[in-house]
Amino acid sequence: MTNLPFIDLAAQQRRLRPAIDAAIARVLDHGGYVMGAEVRDFEAKLAAFGQSPMALSCANGTDAIALPLMAWNVGAGDAVFCPSFTFTATAEVVPWNGAEPVFVDVLADTYCLDPAKLEAAIVAVKAAGRLKPAVVIAVDLFGQPADYPALRTICDRHGLKLIADSAQGFGCTLNGEHPIHWADVATTSFFPAKPLGCYGDGGAVLVKDTAIWNRLDSLRVHGKAVAGDGVDTGHHDPKYLNTRIGMNSRLDTIQAAILIEKLSIFAEEIMLREAVATRYMSGLAGSRATAPKVIDGGQSVWAQYVIDHPNRDGLAAHLKAEGIPTAVYYPVPMHLQPPYEHFERGAGGLPVTEAAAGRVLALPMHPYLMAEDQDRIIAAIRAF
Ligand SMILES: *Cc1c(COP(=O)(O)O)cnc(C)c1O
Repeated sequence: MTNLPFIDLAAQQRRLRPAIDAAIARVLDHGGYVMGAEVRDFEAKLAAFGQSPMALSCANGTDAIALPLMAWNVGAGDAVFCPSFTFTATAEVVPWNGAEPVFVDVLADTYCLDPAKLEAAIVAVKAAGRLKPAVVIAVDLFGQPADYPALRTICDRHGLKLIADSAQGFGCTLNGEHPIHWADVATTSFFPAKPLGCYGDGGAVLVKDTAIWNRLDSLRVHGKAVAGDGVDTGHHDPKYLNTRIGMNSRLDTIQAAILIEKLSIFAEEIMLREAVATRYMSGLAGSRATAPKVIDGGQSVWAQYVIDHPNRDGLAAHLKAEGIPTAVYYPVPMHLQPPYEHFERGAGGLPVTEAAAGRVLALPMHPYLMAEDQDRIIAAIRAF
């Protein structure tokens, strides 16, 4: 019995290889390896796909979250509310500039940020007075949109910025709208295993206006002078005039060229992922595995297909013996990891997050999962 892949990147590559080879060759021919023409071209195409006025690429999905925090001068004394049931990067960037994450529990069905608990956490932080609520980072966990209408209302009531960490969810929609419809900025990652991945590291920030785009452009290139800084660059290269402390976080031109090709089939791949998810859903109906719930009106891009199972570890071992790989996202919530333990938690703690961490199991999921392989996975789960 052959071992199945968890994510089959090779299947997509077989389909796109000639186009990708040609795209890479074009970059080698023109030699603009950093900020070449493909970077701006890709940013325009990405913005169009995500129904966003503009997009700015950067080196990875972690920097994509850090850059807007820097642009808004979020720092010491500021509270940034985020889920604990997420990949490290969501909270990791918050202390970089001295701000503090406040971990908030998620909803038991979608695993996305719980609006009621967010509201309570903001009120508690305000009452305590030590930190000033500044930003909310919502995560489109496993590919589905968070409850943005509710989160936006809360952010408006308290004067907070809203970041959509859509590293797993780029392309997801709620009632036909992409997260940027509600969020101040939406961020994504092009890590190879994400739904829209490149062949290395990459990331992007979707933004709504030129002023923030320029500020982020400055920050991704060492704080270079940009339009709006009011700097008379005279005869100097603005690259060597620094108006703020920035970083080096650019998307390689070769990765942009690869992403242009991948984006051209992404809409179709989301539909293929949806078909795989639907097949799992009906195949597992009536079994002890609880299928994932997507928010009403939501379209997930199915970065992961995550079931809930009372004997998660037993099932994972059984599937492994059958040549079926699985993964646990995430075994230890952020607020229980040693470097993050001392940060604040929303009132009542994070019982839903802690329970979910012991029960979730991600099954093989990618657009090219064959029906017979999926049948094998479903049969193995039902037999356990
Ligand atoms: C992958 C991921 C990131 C970080 O992306 P990188 O490109 O790996 O830096 C951030 N947030 C979430 C939720 C992720 O899944």
